[in-house]
Amino acid sequence: MAVDRLLPSDEAYELLEMTRSVADKLLEPIAAEHERNHTYPEGLFAQLGEVGLLGLPYPEEFGGGDQPYEVYLQVLEELGARWAAVAVATSVHGLSCFPLATAGTDEQKAEWLPGMLAGEQIGAYSLSEPQAGSDAAALRCRAEREGDGPGSVFVVNGTKSWITHGGIADVYNTFVRTGEGSRGISCLLIPRETEGLHFGKPEDKMGLNGVPTTTASYEGARVDADRLLGAEGDGLRIAFSALDSGRLGIAAVATGIAQRALDDAVTYAREREAFGKTIIGHQGLGFLLADMAAAVASARASYLDAARRKDAGRPYSREASIAKLTATDAAMKVTTDAVQVLGGVGYTREFPVERYMREAKITQIFEGTNQIQRLVIARSLAG
Ligand SMILES: Cc1cc2nc3c(=O)[nH]c(=O)nc-3n(C[C@H](O)[C@H](O)[C@H](O)COP(=O)(O)OP(=O)(O)OC[C@H]3O[C@@H](n4cnc5c(N)ncnc54)[C@H](O)[C@@H]3O)c2cc1C
Repeated sequence: MAVDRLLPSDEAYELLEMTRSVADKLLEPIAAEHERNHTYPEGLFAQLGEVGLLGLPYPEEFGGGDQPYEVYLQVLEELGARWAAVAVATSVHGLSCFPLATAGTDEQKAEWLPGMLAGEQIGAYSLSEPQAGSDAAALRCRAEREGDGPGSVFVVNGTKSWITHGGIADVYNTFVRTGEGSRGISCLLIPRETEGLHFGKPEDKMGLNGVPTTTASYEGARVDADRLLGAEGDGLRIAFSALDSGRLGIAAVATGIAQRALDDAVTYAREREAFGKTIIGHQGLGFLLADMAAAVASARASYLDAARRKDAGRPYSREASIAKLTATDAAMKVTTDAVQVLGGVGYTREFPVERYMREAKITQIFEGTNQIQRLVIARSLAG
């Protein structure tokens, strides 16, 4: 069911219409099979780049779409309603452009941003390590500077984990230790072909199997010092401000998954009969669907509120955490209830609702678990 959206411009309505049509054509027909077979959709991200969907919230000057966040997130929601793995990777690509777009020098932006925004260079975001997930400041992967001035390099050693699009993405925003403590972390934009960089085999995940998640090990990898984004030691601040915007992407994708589960549940409940009438006519089930619809609408409202604050240049970090928490918890509940609405067949792979439930689960975990979102919200309440 098409969501009746309120958008800020005619251009945004056209963009959403185009997104729905592209997602129906390119994502919908192949999603289930790739998810079942754990296969990557070769060429799909290039196609999404060609129609302009990979650089939407970034400046036109560098080839971006110059769209407000409010609009960009609704595009992600539409992708999420068709194929969560691709929507997540699209959101992570957007996240990976953030350090370059906000902390890069004019030369760095001119050199690398247009290719990333056009989708010719897919980006990944590599903060997590095996022993440092929620506690990102505990990361150990080390980069030692060799030489000074032009021609100097960082020599990188260590292991990163959980990289969405690992091994396939062209460039990796890699957060490395260049000093001690939380002020001793820096951000390098590392190309995939770097000598001494190896990727692990894809994790065997509960869902999102169409896009690999891997480790990366760095063994004496030499990275040109001009790939440092922002100042040395500024990495954690860059990582966290990127995550504020990235979290909104995850909230939007989660809302898309929930909307799709609701749509499928309603369609089924209007047709399936029990005790002489359609199951939607039984108040107990109708109320379940009503709660699902209310949860989806609240999820959307919470990410739009944060996005509008961001678009207006107002602080939005707490609202981004509230949106991530609200939308992803909603997605988990709504997808679980959708399985309930379908009864026995909901528990089989014949219907996609069980897949939505598996996909919803990860949204409560990555880009800051929902416990970490509560920590951010509680700290802001404590002043
Ligand atoms: C499919 C997938 C894709 C991912 N993609 C990326 C990516 O592209 N880039 C990237 O950098 N990372 C990525 N991640 C990593 C993800 O962000 C981390 O898994 C997440 O931040 C949690 O870290 P952890 O797994 O180490 O859990 P831990 O930090 O070990 O947490 C374990 C549990 O303890 C809880 N906990 C921890 N600290 C606290 C606290 N202070 N208070 C209360 N509870 C707490 C957590 O909420 C969680 O429930 C991905 C992960 C997955 C599974």
